[in-house]
Amino acid sequence: MLRIAVQSKGRLYDETMELLAQAGIKFPAVKRTLLVPSRNFPVEILYLRDDDIPDSVATGTADVGIVGMNEVLEKCQRVKVLHQLGYSRCRLSLAIPRDVAYDGVKWFEGKKIATSYPRILKDFLMRNGINADIHVINGSVEIAPGIGLADGIFDIVSSGGTLVSNNLVEVEKVVDSQAVLIGGDCQLPDEKQKVLNELIFRFKAVKDADGKKYLLMNVPREKLDEVVAILPGIKSPTILPLADENWCSVHSVIEEANFWDVATRLKEAGAEGILVLDIMKMVP
Ligand code: ATP
Ligand code: MG
Repeated sequence: MLRIAVQSKGRLYDETMELLAQAGIKFPAVKRTLLVPSRNFPVEILYLRDDDIPDSVATGTADVGIVGMNEVLEKCQRVKVLHQLGYSRCRLSLAIPRDVAYDGVKWFEGKKIATSYPRILKDFLMRNGINADIHVINGSVEIAPGIGLADGIFDIVSSGGTLVSNNLVEVEKVVDSQAVLIGGDCQLPDEKQKVLNELIFRFKAVKDADGKKYLLMNVPREKLDEVVAILPGIKSPTILPLADENWCSVHSVIEEANFWDVATRLKEAGAEGILVLDIMKMVP
């Protein structure tokens, strides 16, 4: 049984459980304990605070873990990234009060910076030759400048909304983060490694299908070249004959973001009966 450490509640929890569900891995509806075996796949989940996940993997309490890259970098444990999962994207940035004039990273010289990520910040300041006073607080870092606790902050930013509502402005992006699957240093026993390989294979199939749609349409044969040229398909589109030999059916996969642009051009080129279908998984 492969043991996966997952955040017990918080920003990573929902999307991680959704990813496992899309990968066909089922768990009991109610979580009564901290260690929950899957109903249909040889894995069990160990629910932890995200801060404890890198350590649990490094020490072998869990075989693998799903956690933000920010925690992996901060905790500096002996773990390796096995797969980038693509959700919970954010960045760690320096921010200062909006009404302060900023003249580059040397502004932070001699200043007090509040953060929950002292290690990453210390490393950044050292690389830039800056001496600053790092003040560690866990949670609500963004209010520190407003109450006179610090001159600036170093914290997670995604939309930037929290900064705006605290009259702060992002001045230096230090590192990008997303949810990652991490593993330990040691070789897993064969049985567990097999389960892990299958898990990564399924995660990839779910991720590859994300944001993609399956497109079908009918096209007059004489317009085929024009229509095919519009399709930014993964490989060449599938072209099937129809009962009416002057027409054929064209199938392709497109990025959802391009759908309206592509659909309009396909219609103009003579395509009819355009259908768009969800893709659940994509196995290369
Ligand atoms: P815990 O109680 O488990 O310690 P936490 O309060 O430390 O939880 P959360 O706020 O739940 O952490 O965030 C978990 C992770 O989600 C972060 O470490 C980061 O990788 C990511 N994250 C945090 N804020 C955002 C955001 N605004 N947008 C996207 N991802 C985010
Ligand atoms: Mg935490």
